[in-house]
Amino acid sequence: MVEVNDMYYAFSKNEEIAEKGEYGGAVTSLLKFLLEEGMVDAVLAVKKGSDLYDAVPTLITEPEKVIESAGSLHCGTLNIAKVITRYLNGAKDIKIAVTTKPCDAMTIVEVAKRGKIDLDNVIMVGVNCGGTLPPVKTRAMIEEVYEMDPDDVVKEEIAKGKLIIETSDAEKGISVDEVEEMGYGRRTNCRRCEKNIPRMADLALGNWGVIGPLAGKATFVEVTSEKGADLLEKAVSAGVIEIEDPIPKGIEIREKIDQAMVNLAKKWQKNDFNEETGAEILMNLDRYMDELNKCIKCYSCREACPICYCEECSLETKTPEWIEKGKIPPSPLFHLERMLHMVDSCTNCGQCEELCPAEIPLAKIWHEINCRVQETFGYKTGFETGQEPPLTHP
Ligand code: FAD
Repeated sequence: MVEVNDMYYAFSKNEEIAEKGEYGGAVTSLLKFLLEEGMVDAVLAVKKGSDLYDAVPTLITEPEKVIESAGSLHCGTLNIAKVITRYLNGAKDIKIAVTTKPCDAMTIVEVAKRGKIDLDNVIMVGVNCGGTLPPVKTRAMIEEVYEMDPDDVVKEEIAKGKLIIETSDAEKGISVDEVEEMGYGRRTNCRRCEKNIPRMADLALGNWGVIGPLAGKATFVEVTSEKGADLLEKAVSAGVIEIEDPIPKGIEIREKIDQAMVNLAKKWQKNDFNEETGAEILMNLDRYMDELNKCIKCYSCREACPICYCEECSLETKTPEWIEKGKIPPSPLFHLERMLHMVDSCTNCGQCEELCPAEIPLAKIWHEINCRVQETFGYKTGFETGQEPPLTHP
């Protein structure tokens, strides 16, 4: 009997999936099983596009096609919650299973609290995440720092503190700290992220802690909800995946790596949350104007933000008097108005900053303010606690 908080090593019983999966293919087999059993209408996963650096969200309805999404694409951060609100009507009339990194899962939970996603129709198969890599910079890093051809790369991963790049005949690992000091490595929002294990999803799967004979061939599963327990139990009974008790030392190692990553995130927060680039700029009008005056009012931040879902945006339609139309840069209140709408639910997904053509450090600012909101209101962004987002009400 599988129960909430149980931990296992898991792998697919299907040889092809086990081979193509990142660490034994349990995720892919669970998703395929959900479709085969009619427990969901569709699977929202991620598959390789034109190359390894191109992660594409994909909606799959045929069980035999789920295998196309096996494997981890570390360059992809993806706006999964926005895909659900914008293109799937918030899963209000379709049952879906979705693979979620912690930021994806947290955002889905926040959007659900605002009534825009129906969590009863969503099964979140979570994958751990130690951070993602920006594709363009990563290609440059591979060429300049690793002295390898980015087009020859077959795999990239972070293991034992190193960023490892593999081609079919070579492998090179450099310490993550070292590449990040050089300005490469993980996205800046990922560096600050303390949520590596998606405990807000229904299951949390990752390679950390898998040691012994199954190392590299199985994934560690933590059961994080009743829904997850039910799914795992059914998949094991149907013989699509196999589970084993984890080696106790493996559980310890997993906890230690997670803690080390949390400490590293705190180091980056300390680095980023400062007078120059953090929320402090809101306390200093000159600094704020310097930074925000670069805005060309392209609305990319709003378009990308998964927490922004209004069909009629007050920044355009109601045109508050305090935000005069037709001005570039817009009134400084433009960003503050947006902030009030989303900052309590901001999950540091980083999309606003990634898309900003003026390179305003938006994610840094909103992330720090979100941390302060969480502290001030005792709110846990991204978790279901029965508490509403404290600043905005659905
Ligand atoms: P598979 O059967 O191969 O299934 C993988 C699933 O992940 C597929 O459904 C695929 O659609 C989905 N996926 C691929 N790329 C993305 C993406 N960018 N965003 C969302 N979903 C995606 N585990 C750790 O223990 N420590 C880590 O530091 C860690 N970092 C990771 C970073 C990223 C970006 C990703 C995607 C995964 C990471 N994992 C990490 C999880 C690990 O790589 C495996 O996904 C997990 O062990 C499950 O293995 P599997 O063989 O069952 O997965």
